[in-house]
Parts: sequence; structure tokens; C-alpha cells
Amino acid sequence: MISLESIARDINKCSKCSLSKTCNKKVPGSGSSTARIMLIGEAPGRNEDMLGKPFVGAAGKFLDELLAHAGLTRKDVFIGNMVKCRPPGNRDPTNQELDACSPFLDEQLSVIKPEVIIPLGRFAMSYMLDKYHLPNGRISELHGKIFNVNTLFGSLKLIPMYHPAAGLYQGSTKEKIIDDWKNLRANKFA
Ligand code: URA
Repeated sequence: MISLESIARDINKCSKCSLSKTCNKKVPGSGSSTARIMLIGEAPGRNEDMLGKPFVGAAGKFLDELLAHAGLTRKDVFIGNMVKCRPPGNRDPTNQELDACSPFLDEQLSVIKPEVIIPLGRFAMSYMLDKYHLPNGRISELHGKIFNVNTLFGSLKLIPMYHPAAGLYQGSTKEKIIDDWKNLRANKFA
């Protein structure tokens, strides 16, 4: 039977794109199969590549703060990424790499069946909006908005957020990101 563990095994064996040749450790994701909330980042960076875990660097530290603003901890969420191998030099993933890796994310979604999906940044947002046949747009316009989606396994909320790394360099973006996560708590989504 398909499980998060069997998906992680398949990811560890995967060589569908060239990132598998340059990465150090694959990063399948972390969290429980019964998490109600799933966060989806872009791709592992240097620290994640060394440890095989998602969001363990500076962006991860800020993500922990953001979760706290929403009244959550990592125990409440599953954290995955669009691609499971680090792109060299942290470049953007290519369409070919995204296409090769997205079936793993779809499998993780089908096991977890989350009630809330929070794509972090434009790559994950775009993928999820397309997947659920919602009109795509810019993250600067869609961040923090709640989309109600009906899926084969029930209804869920899709809430795109800025990628936490976007808040590390620009104070004004950081404020917007914090406000979005505080609103999540206010909306009692969890
Ligand atoms: N940024 C991401 O998108 N994912 C990670 O796992 C770490 C940083």
C-alpha cells in the first residue's frame, strides 16, 4: 500500500531528472500522514540538502515564527517541496524538473488528504492553482486569499502564501507575510 514511507523510498531511488546527480540528500518532506495542513515549498537549499529535511535554514527559522503566529507548530503540519532535490546554486527549478517531480507531491497529497494546503511561493502556488483548475495569478495579488476547492477526497482550503525567504531581505514584505499568517489564526482555519 502507498504510504509516506514508500513514497520517500521511491524519491530516494529516483533519477528522473539530472538534479538527482548533483544533490547530496533527497528531501522527501517531513510530518505526519494525518496532518490536516500541508505546506509546499519550492526546493531544498544548501542546509536541507545536507540534512535531508525541509526548511532547516534561515527560511525555516522564519517559517517556525510564522507557524507560531498562526498558533501552529511543525507537529501540526506536513512540509513538502515542489522538487525533492536541490537545484545547483539554488537556481529556480526548470519546468522539466517540476514535471518530473510533481507526481511525488500528488502521491503525498493523496495519502495525507489535507484539509488546508498552503503553497509557499509562486512555483507551488501556480502548480496547486492549475491542479484545481483555478485561475492563476501573481503571488503579490493572491497571497493570503482562501480558495475553497472540492476534490475527490473532500473539500479543502488552498491558501497561497509568500515564500518565507521573500521576507528575509525586505522589511515591507516581511510585515505582509506576518500579517497573512496572523490572519490565518484570526480566521480559525486550523
Ligand atoms: N526553501 C524551500 O522552498 N524549501 C526548503 O525546503 C527550504 C527552503
